[in-house]
Amino acid sequence: MISMKLGDGLLSLATGYCRRLCHGLRINTAWPPGALPGDAAAEKPLKTFQEFLAESYPAFHRCAQRWTLSPYGVVYRWPGWGDAGSSGLDPALLLGHYDVVPAEGNAWTVDPFGGEFLDGFIYGRGALDMKSITLGILESADTLCRRGFKPRRDVWIALGGDEERTGILGARETAAWMAREGLRFSFILDEGTPVAVNQISGISWPLALVGVEEKGYLSAALSVDQAPGHASQPPEQQAAAILSRALLRLSRRPFPWLLTPVAEECFRRLGDYAPGIAGWVMHHARLLGPLFFRAAGTSPSSRALLRTTMAITQLSGSAADNVLPSAARAVLNLRLLPPWTVDSALERLRSVIADRRVAVTVHGLATDPVRAGPVKEVVEGPGWQEIRSAVDSAFGSAVLPGDTGLGMSVPALPFLMLATTDSRHFKDLSPRIFRFSPQILTPDDLSRIHGHDERISLENMDRCLGFYTALMEQL
Ligand SMILES: [Zn+2]
Repeated sequence: MISMKLGDGLLSLATGYCRRLCHGLRINTAWPPGALPGDAAAEKPLKTFQEFLAESYPAFHRCAQRWTLSPYGVVYRWPGWGDAGSSGLDPALLLGHYDVVPAEGNAWTVDPFGGEFLDGFIYGRGALDMKSITLGILESADTLCRRGFKPRRDVWIALGGDEERTGILGARETAAWMAREGLRFSFILDEGTPVAVNQISGISWPLALVGVEEKGYLSAALSVDQAPGHASQPPEQQAAAILSRALLRLSRRPFPWLLTPVAEECFRRLGDYAPGIAGWVMHHARLLGPLFFRAAGTSPSSRALLRTTMAITQLSGSAADNVLPSAARAVLNLRLLPPWTVDSALERLRSVIADRRVAVTVHGLATDPVRAGPVKEVVEGPGWQEIRSAVDSAFGSAVLPGDTGLGMSVPALPFLMLATTDSRHFKDLSPRIFRFSPQILTPDDLSRIHGHDERISLENMDRCLGFYTALMEQL
């Protein structure tokens, strides 16, 4: 558990940002199960949220141009003071989303769409992921506009309404619109990993892990057909057994270890914060080779940085205990570490299974990893310094309770984003995409994201404002 000295903004938070976030959380922007795009009732809350933003941030809306592309996408351009092109600065793009995942109301102790403030926390679906951040971006911009601040470069803000369901209608359409407008960005910042302790096993220091590269996403369906029939006369070779053998083969031969340039740089920097031998091992990952993989491969968090992971998430067969299934089916969820792609990963699954009776197909939307340029260029190029100094200013004095009470600085380190974000749809618009959520979360907080009783502390709201304000002041 980490606490932090509160900035001066906390008092005004209690009246402004807090009130607006409570209001925003009461607009239920979860997509109703089974509704199709174009469903007026399902799209209404998305439109309501877009209008709520316009009403809540009048100063920013006076400074900026707005394009409402659809219920799933709204775009702002906050013009910089340099004439277009003359400042030599390409615009920056900040991303967010205003949809949320559904909430099982009866498992919550409060109304998930009640927007309640209790004991220093605001409760509601989206409190962390990510209405607090989406509002924090506009809240910061609105305050700066009221102060008469203008960024040097154009700052674009794009908000999506279907991030939790692939971002095809929101982010992807927005990116296509931007490409048609001929826009290119010096860097893009989206939500990402929050600051937490013990994110990487053996490191208790709070770290701002900024995703500079993103793993790909592939759900692969494995299925084996067989003639349905009575369970009293089963065939000798049963579908479920053939499928099980395939799963066993895949489990015994996981994807190979890989030390990508981003992972190598990440571990090299992480080594400064790991005690004793563990730090030395992290510093010398490439030199140690297989020994490093053996040491790092013992924890799920490190393993995810070092290989394409494969989770067996769904298994199905017959619906009745005495009926042979017409097919046995499994779904594997893979997170692809570059240079693996959707195609090469599928090919590997088929070759390891080595059984033509097992069909391997893509299930749902699959995406290749979003790769970073040379990591040195990324962490020395546009965006990185600005993000790092915004982290310093928002998180500079984190204190571990029960500790010495000395301020612990929160370092920003380049990281591999393990989950997918809307930013993948913008990959052709900038060579530098960063993913980071300016919050310090405990394991308990993390379990509430997409879980029950999601909530955000006032301290985290203060950090969010501090981060985006400091960032925008440099743009
Ligand atoms: Zn999110």
